[in-house]
Amino acid sequence: MKITLIYGDGIGYEVIRATEEIIDAVTDKIEWEIMEAGAEITDKYNTPLPEETLESIRRNKIALKGPTATPVGQGFRSVNVEIRKKLDLYANLRPLKSYEGVETLYKDIDLVIVRENTEGLYIGEEEMIDHETAVSKKIITKNASERIVDFAFKYAEKNNRKKVTAAHKANIMKFSDGLFLEASNMVAEKYPEKEYDSKIIDAMCMELVMKPHNFDVVVAPNFYGDILSDLCSGLVGGLGYAPGANIGDECAVFEAVHGTAPDIAGKGVANPASAILSGCMMLEYIGMYEEAGEIISALKEVFANSKQMYGKNGMLNTNKFKEEIIKKI
Ligand code: NAD
Repeated sequence: MKITLIYGDGIGYEVIRATEEIIDAVTDKIEWEIMEAGAEITDKYNTPLPEETLESIRRNKIALKGPTATPVGQGFRSVNVEIRKKLDLYANLRPLKSYEGVETLYKDIDLVIVRENTEGLYIGEEEMIDHETAVSKKIITKNASERIVDFAFKYAEKNNRKKVTAAHKANIMKFSDGLFLEASNMVAEKYPEKEYDSKIIDAMCMELVMKPHNFDVVVAPNFYGDILSDLCSGLVGGLGYAPGANIGDECAVFEAVHGTAPDIAGKGVANPASAILSGCMMLEYIGMYEEAGEIISALKEVFANSKQMYGKNGMLNTNKFKEEIIKKI
Protein backbone atom coordinates (compact mmCIF):
# COMPACT_ATOMS: atom_id res chain seq x y z
CA MET A 1 0.00 0.00 0.00
CA LYS A 2 1.03 3.59 -0.65
CA ILE A 3 1.69 5.88 2.30
CA THR A 4 2.58 9.57 2.11
CA LEU A 5 5.92 10.32 3.80
CA ILE A 6 6.87 13.88 4.78
CA TYR A 7 10.30 14.48 6.32
CA GLY A 8 9.52 18.10 7.36
CA ASP A 9 12.02 20.54 8.88
CA GLY A 10 14.85 20.46 11.42
CA ILE A 11 15.35 16.97 12.92
CA GLY A 12 12.48 15.71 10.74
CA TYR A 13 14.71 14.07 8.12
CA GLU A 14 16.86 12.35 10.76
CA VAL A 15 14.01 10.83 12.79
CA ILE A 16 11.60 10.06 9.92
CA ARG A 17 14.32 8.53 7.72
CA ALA A 18 15.25 6.25 10.65
CA THR A 19 11.57 5.29 11.07
CA GLU A 20 11.20 4.63 7.34
CA GLU A 21 14.21 2.28 7.34
CA ILE A 22 12.95 0.44 10.43
CA ILE A 23 9.48 -0.05 8.92
CA ASP A 24 11.08 -1.24 5.68
CA ALA A 25 12.98 -3.83 7.74
CA VAL A 26 9.71 -5.41 8.97
CA THR A 27 7.60 -5.20 5.83
CA ASP A 28 7.90 -4.79 2.07
CA LYS A 29 4.18 -4.06 1.72
CA ILE A 30 4.56 -0.30 2.11
CA GLU A 31 5.40 1.94 -0.82
CA TRP A 32 6.37 5.41 0.41
CA GLU A 33 5.21 8.43 -1.57
CA ILE A 34 7.68 11.09 -0.52
CA MET A 35 6.11 14.57 -0.44
CA GLU A 36 7.28 17.94 0.85
CA ALA A 37 6.02 20.34 3.51
CA GLY A 38 7.58 22.79 5.94
CA ALA A 39 9.31 26.13 6.28
CA GLU A 40 12.40 24.90 4.42
CA ILE A 41 10.49 24.46 1.12
CA THR A 42 8.48 27.70 1.29
CA ASP A 43 10.67 29.57 -1.21
CA LYS A 44 10.53 26.68 -3.71
CA TYR A 45 6.70 26.39 -3.72
CA ASN A 46 5.71 29.80 -2.35
CA THR A 47 3.89 27.95 0.43
CA PRO A 48 5.03 25.54 3.17
CA LEU A 49 2.16 23.20 2.27
CA PRO A 50 1.94 22.49 -1.48
CA GLU A 51 -1.46 21.31 -2.77
CA GLU A 52 0.23 18.13 -4.17
CA THR A 53 1.17 17.12 -0.62
CA LEU A 54 -2.41 17.47 0.61
CA GLU A 55 -3.65 15.62 -2.49
CA SER A 56 -1.23 12.76 -1.80
CA ILE A 57 -2.58 12.39 1.77
CA ARG A 58 -6.19 12.54 0.49
CA ARG A 59 -5.39 9.84 -2.08
CA ASN A 60 -3.38 7.50 0.18
CA LYS A 61 -5.47 8.25 3.32
CA ILE A 62 -2.41 7.66 5.54
CA ALA A 63 0.70 9.78 6.11
CA LEU A 64 3.77 9.66 8.32
CA LYS A 65 5.01 13.18 8.94
CA GLY A 66 8.06 14.82 10.49
CA PRO A 67 7.78 18.09 12.41
CA THR A 68 7.38 21.36 10.52
CA ALA A 69 8.49 24.78 11.73
CA THR A 70 6.10 27.66 12.31
CA PRO A 71 7.86 31.02 12.46
CA VAL A 72 6.81 33.02 15.56
CA GLY A 73 4.66 36.10 14.99
CA GLN A 74 4.56 36.18 11.19
CA GLY A 75 3.32 34.59 7.96
CA PHE A 76 1.55 31.25 7.35
CA ARG A 77 -0.28 30.06 10.45
CA SER A 78 1.00 26.48 10.68
CA VAL A 79 1.39 23.53 8.34
CA ASN A 80 -0.02 21.29 11.06
CA VAL A 81 -3.08 23.42 11.77
CA GLU A 82 -3.72 23.61 8.00
CA ILE A 83 -3.36 19.85 7.42
CA ARG A 84 -5.63 19.06 10.39
CA LYS A 85 -8.23 21.58 9.21
CA LYS A 86 -8.19 20.73 5.50
CA LEU A 87 -8.44 16.96 6.15
CA ASP A 88 -10.71 17.28 9.20
CA LEU A 89 -8.30 15.28 11.38
CA TYR A 90 -10.34 16.03 14.46
CA ALA A 91 -8.72 13.71 16.99
CA ASN A 92 -5.14 14.06 18.16
CA LEU A 93 -4.20 10.87 19.93
CA ARG A 94 -1.06 10.94 22.10
CA PRO A 95 -0.20 7.87 24.19
CA LEU A 96 2.42 8.43 26.89
CA LYS A 97 4.06 5.33 28.25
CA SER A 98 7.19 4.81 30.35
CA TYR A 99 9.70 2.15 29.30
CA GLU A 100 12.24 0.26 31.35
CA GLY A 101 15.68 1.74 30.85
CA VAL A 102 14.37 5.24 30.14
CA GLU A 103 14.87 7.60 33.07
CA THR A 104 11.50 8.81 34.37
CA LEU A 105 10.08 10.35 37.55
CA TYR A 106 7.68 7.42 38.04
CA LYS A 107 7.43 3.84 36.85
CA ASP A 108 4.50 2.39 34.90
CA ILE A 109 3.11 5.55 33.39
CA ASP A 110 0.52 4.63 30.79
CA LEU A 111 -1.96 7.31 29.83
CA VAL A 112 -3.42 8.75 26.66
CA ILE A 113 -4.22 12.32 25.75
CA VAL A 114 -7.10 12.75 23.30
CA ARG A 115 -6.97 16.32 22.09
CA GLU A 116 -9.63 18.11 20.04
CA ASN A 117 -7.80 19.15 16.91
CA THR A 118 -9.98 21.50 14.88
CA GLU A 119 -11.11 24.43 17.02
CA GLY A 120 -10.39 26.28 20.26
CA LEU A 121 -7.57 28.77 20.83
CA TYR A 122 -4.95 26.71 19.01
CA ILE A 123 -6.33 27.36 15.51
CA GLY A 124 -4.84 30.84 15.79
CA GLU A 125 -7.72 33.06 14.64
CA GLU A 126 -6.38 36.38 15.83
CA GLU A 127 -6.68 40.05 15.14
CA MET A 128 -4.61 43.12 15.98
CA ILE A 129 -7.13 45.77 17.10
CA ASP A 130 -4.41 48.42 17.30
CA HIS A 131 -0.70 48.46 18.23
CA GLU A 132 -1.53 47.79 21.87
CA THR A 133 -4.41 45.32 21.71
CA ALA A 134 -4.69 41.86 20.20
CA VAL A 135 -7.63 39.44 20.23
CA SER A 136 -7.54 35.65 19.92
CA LYS A 137 -10.78 33.84 19.20
CA LYS A 138 -11.60 30.71 21.14
CA ILE A 139 -14.41 28.87 19.42
CA ILE A 140 -15.86 25.78 21.06
CA THR A 141 -18.82 24.00 19.49
CA LYS A 142 -21.16 21.36 20.85
CA ASN A 143 -20.65 19.16 17.78
CA ALA A 144 -16.84 19.13 17.88
CA SER A 145 -16.84 18.62 21.66
CA GLU A 146 -19.27 15.69 21.49
CA ARG A 147 -17.31 14.19 18.59
CA ILE A 148 -13.97 14.25 20.45
CA VAL A 149 -15.38 12.97 23.75
CA ASP A 150 -17.14 10.18 21.90
CA PHE A 151 -13.82 9.35 20.19
CA ALA A 152 -12.14 9.20 23.63
CA PHE A 153 -14.76 6.78 25.00
CA LYS A 154 -14.65 4.61 21.87
CA TYR A 155 -10.85 4.52 22.19
CA ALA A 156 -11.23 3.51 25.86
CA GLU A 157 -13.61 0.72 24.87
CA LYS A 158 -11.41 -0.59 22.08
CA ASN A 159 -8.24 -0.47 24.17
CA ASN A 160 -9.62 -1.74 27.47
CA ARG A 161 -9.04 1.52 29.28
CA LYS A 162 -11.01 2.06 32.47
CA LYS A 163 -11.50 5.76 32.82
CA VAL A 164 -11.96 8.98 30.84
CA THR A 165 -11.19 12.38 32.42
CA ALA A 166 -12.29 15.61 30.73
CA ALA A 167 -10.07 18.71 31.17
CA HIS A 168 -11.69 22.18 31.28
CA LYS A 169 -11.76 25.61 32.86
CA ALA A 170 -15.53 25.96 32.89
CA ASN A 171 -15.47 27.80 36.23
CA ILE A 172 -13.99 30.82 34.40
CA MET A 173 -14.80 30.23 30.73
CA LYS A 174 -18.40 29.44 31.47
CA PHE A 175 -19.67 29.51 27.89
CA SER A 176 -16.86 27.95 25.85
CA ASP A 177 -15.41 25.44 28.32
CA GLY A 178 -18.87 25.19 29.85
CA LEU A 179 -20.11 23.85 26.51
CA PHE A 180 -17.20 21.38 26.34
CA LEU A 181 -17.93 20.15 29.87
CA GLU A 182 -21.65 19.84 29.21
CA ALA A 183 -20.94 17.84 26.03
CA SER A 184 -18.47 15.63 27.95
CA ASN A 185 -20.96 14.92 30.74
CA MET A 186 -23.65 14.11 28.20
CA VAL A 187 -21.51 11.76 26.08
CA ALA A 188 -20.22 10.02 29.25
CA GLU A 189 -23.79 8.94 30.03
CA LYS A 190 -23.72 6.78 26.88
CA TYR A 191 -20.82 4.76 28.34
CA PRO A 192 -21.97 3.76 31.86
CA GLU A 193 -19.45 0.90 32.00
CA LYS A 194 -16.52 3.37 31.87
CA GLU A 195 -15.46 5.52 34.83
CA TYR A 196 -15.70 9.22 34.08
CA ASP A 197 -14.70 12.42 35.82
CA SER A 198 -13.82 15.99 34.88
CA LYS A 199 -11.11 18.23 36.26
CA ILE A 200 -10.24 21.91 36.13
CA ILE A 201 -7.13 22.20 33.99
CA ASP A 202 -4.80 23.95 36.45
CA ALA A 203 -5.47 21.55 39.34
CA MET A 204 -5.23 18.71 36.84
CA CYS A 205 -1.67 19.77 35.87
CA MET A 206 -0.61 19.50 39.51
CA GLU A 207 -2.26 16.11 39.91
CA LEU A 208 -0.66 14.84 36.69
CA VAL A 209 2.78 15.68 38.06
CA MET A 210 2.12 14.33 41.58
CA LYS A 211 -0.20 11.38 40.94
CA PRO A 212 -0.02 10.49 37.25
CA HIS A 213 -1.35 7.00 37.92
CA ASN A 214 -4.75 8.57 38.68
CA PHE A 215 -5.19 9.12 34.94
CA ASP A 216 -6.02 6.82 32.05
CA VAL A 217 -7.61 8.57 29.03
CA VAL A 218 -7.64 12.38 29.21
CA VAL A 219 -9.83 14.29 26.76
CA ALA A 220 -9.21 18.00 26.30
CA PRO A 221 -9.95 20.99 24.09
CA ASN A 222 -7.22 21.82 21.57
CA PHE A 223 -4.94 24.21 23.45
CA TYR A 224 -5.08 22.43 26.83
CA GLY A 225 -4.43 19.13 25.02
CA ASP A 226 -1.33 20.61 23.38
CA ILE A 227 0.14 21.75 26.69
CA LEU A 228 -0.86 18.59 28.57
CA SER A 229 0.92 16.49 25.91
CA ASP A 230 4.27 18.17 26.55
CA LEU A 231 3.71 18.02 30.32
CA CYS A 232 3.01 14.29 30.10
CA SER A 233 5.95 13.72 27.75
CA GLY A 234 8.03 14.97 30.70
CA LEU A 235 6.61 12.08 32.73
CA VAL A 236 7.90 9.47 30.29
CA GLY A 237 11.42 10.76 29.63
CA GLY A 238 10.84 13.79 27.42
CA LEU A 239 9.67 14.74 23.96
CA GLY A 240 11.81 12.02 22.40
CA TYR A 241 9.37 9.41 23.76
CA ALA A 242 6.00 10.92 22.87
CA PRO A 243 4.30 9.64 19.70
CA GLY A 244 1.06 10.84 18.17
CA ALA A 245 -1.61 10.54 15.49
CA ASN A 246 -4.07 12.97 13.93
CA ILE A 247 -7.16 10.99 13.01
CA GLY A 248 -10.24 11.86 10.95
CA ASP A 249 -13.00 9.83 9.36
CA GLU A 250 -11.19 9.76 5.97
CA CYS A 251 -7.47 10.18 6.64
CA ALA A 252 -4.89 9.87 9.40
CA VAL A 253 -1.51 11.60 9.77
CA PHE A 254 0.99 10.13 12.23
CA GLU A 255 3.55 12.43 13.83
CA ALA A 256 5.51 12.77 17.07
CA VAL A 257 4.53 15.35 19.69
CA HIS A 258 7.87 17.15 19.37
CA GLY A 259 8.80 19.93 16.99
CA THR A 260 11.77 20.56 14.71
CA ALA A 261 14.26 20.89 17.63
CA PRO A 262 16.39 23.53 15.83
CA ASP A 263 18.94 23.41 18.69
CA ILE A 264 20.00 19.86 17.76
CA ALA A 265 18.97 19.61 14.08
CA GLY A 266 21.60 18.17 11.73
CA LYS A 267 23.78 16.88 14.59
CA GLY A 268 22.63 13.25 14.44
CA VAL A 269 21.66 13.28 18.13
CA ALA A 270 17.84 13.49 17.91
CA ASN A 271 15.95 10.74 19.67
CA PRO A 272 13.97 8.95 16.94
CA ALA A 273 11.86 6.93 19.44
CA SER A 274 8.78 9.15 19.27
CA ALA A 275 8.83 9.09 15.44
CA ILE A 276 9.34 5.30 15.49
CA LEU A 277 6.49 4.85 18.00
CA SER A 278 4.30 7.07 15.79
CA GLY A 279 5.21 4.74 12.92
CA CYS A 280 4.09 1.79 15.07
CA MET A 281 0.77 3.54 15.78
CA MET A 282 0.41 3.87 12.01
CA LEU A 283 1.15 0.18 11.41
CA GLU A 284 -1.47 -0.79 14.02
CA TYR A 285 -3.97 1.61 12.45
CA ILE A 286 -3.60 -0.14 9.08
CA GLY A 287 -3.88 -3.56 10.71
CA MET A 288 -0.18 -4.52 10.69
CA TYR A 289 -0.16 -5.42 14.41
CA GLU A 290 2.53 -8.09 14.12
CA GLU A 291 4.97 -5.75 12.38
CA ALA A 292 4.29 -2.98 14.94
CA GLY A 293 4.83 -5.53 17.74
CA GLU A 294 8.20 -6.57 16.27
CA ILE A 295 9.42 -2.98 16.26
CA ILE A 296 8.12 -2.28 19.78
CA SER A 297 9.86 -5.40 21.14
CA ALA A 298 13.14 -4.30 19.53
CA LEU A 299 12.67 -0.76 20.89
CA LYS A 300 12.10 -2.10 24.40
CA GLU A 301 15.31 -4.14 24.19
CA VAL A 302 17.27 -1.10 23.09
CA PHE A 303 15.74 1.06 25.87
CA ALA A 304 16.53 -1.61 28.45
CA ASN A 305 20.18 -1.64 27.34
CA SER A 306 20.29 2.10 26.99
CA LYS A 307 24.07 2.20 26.38
CA GLN A 308 23.22 1.05 22.86
CA MET A 309 21.48 4.35 22.21
CA TYR A 310 24.61 6.40 22.74
CA GLY A 311 27.66 7.14 20.62
CA LYS A 312 31.30 7.39 21.76
CA ASN A 313 30.79 11.05 22.73
CA GLY A 314 28.13 10.04 25.27
CA MET A 315 25.36 11.67 23.21
CA LEU A 316 22.37 9.76 21.88
CA ASN A 317 23.22 8.73 18.34
CA THR A 318 20.22 8.60 15.97
CA ASN A 319 21.93 6.26 13.51
CA LYS A 320 23.28 3.88 16.13
CA PHE A 321 19.84 3.75 17.74
CA LYS A 322 18.24 2.88 14.40
CA GLU A 323 20.87 0.25 13.60
CA GLU A 324 20.46 -1.43 17.01
CA ILE A 325 16.71 -1.70 16.41
CA ILE A 326 17.15 -3.10 12.90
CA LYS A 327 19.66 -5.66 14.27
CA LYS A 328 17.05 -6.85 16.80
CA ILE A 329 14.17 -7.14 14.33
P1 NAD B 1 10.63 21.24 20.05
O1 NAD B 1 9.76 20.11 20.38
O2 NAD B 1 11.15 21.29 18.66
O3 NAD B 1 11.89 21.28 21.05
C1 NAD B 1 11.77 21.47 22.45
C2 NAD B 1 13.01 20.88 23.16
O4 NAD B 1 12.93 19.46 23.12
C3 NAD B 1 14.33 21.26 22.48
O5 NAD B 1 15.32 21.44 23.46
C4 NAD B 1 14.65 20.05 21.62
O6 NAD B 1 16.02 19.84 21.38
C5 NAD B 1 14.07 18.91 22.46
N1 NAD B 1 13.62 17.82 21.58
C6 NAD B 1 12.50 17.80 20.80
N2 NAD B 1 12.41 16.66 20.13
C7 NAD B 1 13.49 15.91 20.47
C8 NAD B 1 13.99 14.62 20.10
N3 NAD B 1 13.34 13.85 19.22
N4 NAD B 1 15.15 14.19 20.64
C9 NAD B 1 15.82 14.94 21.54
N5 NAD B 1 15.40 16.18 21.94
C10 NAD B 1 14.26 16.65 21.41
O7 NAD B 1 9.81 22.57 20.37
P2 NAD B 1 10.13 24.08 20.01
O8 NAD B 1 11.61 24.36 20.10
O9 NAD B 1 9.17 24.85 20.81
O10 NAD B 1 9.67 24.23 18.50
C11 NAD B 1 10.53 24.26 17.38
C12 NAD B 1 9.71 24.37 16.09
O11 NAD B 1 8.92 23.19 15.94
C13 NAD B 1 8.71 25.54 16.09
O12 NAD B 1 8.74 26.14 14.81
C14 NAD B 1 7.36 24.89 16.34
O13 NAD B 1 6.30 25.61 15.75
C15 NAD B 1 7.56 23.55 15.65
N6 NAD B 1 6.68 22.47 16.14
C16 NAD B 1 6.21 21.61 15.22
C17 NAD B 1 5.45 20.52 15.61
C18 NAD B 1 4.94 19.60 14.55
O14 NAD B 1 5.24 19.77 13.39
N7 NAD B 1 4.19 18.56 14.89
C19 NAD B 1 5.19 20.30 16.97
C20 NAD B 1 5.73 21.19 17.91
C21 NAD B 1 6.48 22.27 17.49
